[in-house]
Amino acid sequence: MRKDISTPQSTKAILEKHGFTFKKSLGQNFLIDRNILNNIVNAADLTEDSGVIEIGPGIGALTEFIARASKKAVAFEIDQRLLPILEETLAPYPHVEIIHSDVLKANIHAVIKEHFEEGQDLMVVANLPYYVTTPIIMKLLQDKLPIRGIVCMIQKEVADRLAASPGTKDYNSLSIAIQYYATAETMIKVPKTVFVPAPNVDSSVIKLTLRKEPAVEVKDEEFFFEVVRASFAQRRKTLWNNLTSKLVTKDKKEELQAILEEIEIDPKRRGETLTIQEFGKLADALLPLIK
Ligand code: SAM
Repeated sequence: MRKDISTPQSTKAILEKHGFTFKKSLGQNFLIDRNILNNIVNAADLTEDSGVIEIGPGIGALTEFIARASKKAVAFEIDQRLLPILEETLAPYPHVEIIHSDVLKANIHAVIKEHFEEGQDLMVVANLPYYVTTPIIMKLLQDKLPIRGIVCMIQKEVADRLAASPGTKDYNSLSIAIQYYATAETMIKVPKTVFVPAPNVDSSVIKLTLRKEPAVEVKDEEFFFEVVRASFAQRRKTLWNNLTSKLVTKDKKEELQAILEEIEIDPKRRGETLTIQEFGKLADALLPLIK
């Protein structure tokens, strides 16, 4: 069998051969540990019929494991310097397609239509560049792609926030944004030593499984997220203080009081104690007052 791209020796040889230097600004930390790569791909529960979208293949360490476990893979890579390297390293895997593009600017719906079959099982699997983790995950969710879920390696602190429950220190507006669209579970913690170069932070692999319907039904999705952000604007403040300084004008304070009483949410609570369902109730009740 061929030697993996990801062994420390192969990685070093590939980088040296091509004179590749890492760009910190692109979050380039490449994986050199086959156990972790196996764990990431296993977490995605792929079958031989699955399609995979990867973001940031680097020199192909994870792509190779994805290729072995799936029917078709498409990977978005922003760094042009990696294209000739990937052409070489992934030559044994003709069912892998590399797209030279910033994933944040890509029309992923069009890519899916072009490269995958209708109704095919689809997962996003990635070791994400840390400088844009949240925008990438939010784009994947908000674009409402026909995917089963996302398995990705991200900074541990961000993973803790994505999977946090109400009332915990990590619960914030990002937890709600993610959990609105998906269920989140942390799969494994990953030490810095499995990357070259080693990043400054620890990492976690997280699995997001898309919900068939959002976690709560709301009248206006955009306004729901506005209410969530306002409620978390200053963590130490009460819900009342955050809402009246960020969302509700002075002249409407009495109405706000009446609304909170009616939906039985104590204005003295902090945003971080509200469940996603309570935020849904709050947003729907506030909608006629604000819009
Ligand atoms: N998958 C490889 C691995 O695990 O060894 C590399 C992962 S590295 C953390 C992140 C990769 O994402 C790099 O190859 C980087 O060039 C690429 N990248 C950074 N920003 C990107 C963007 N906006 N769109 C697509 N790729 C991006």
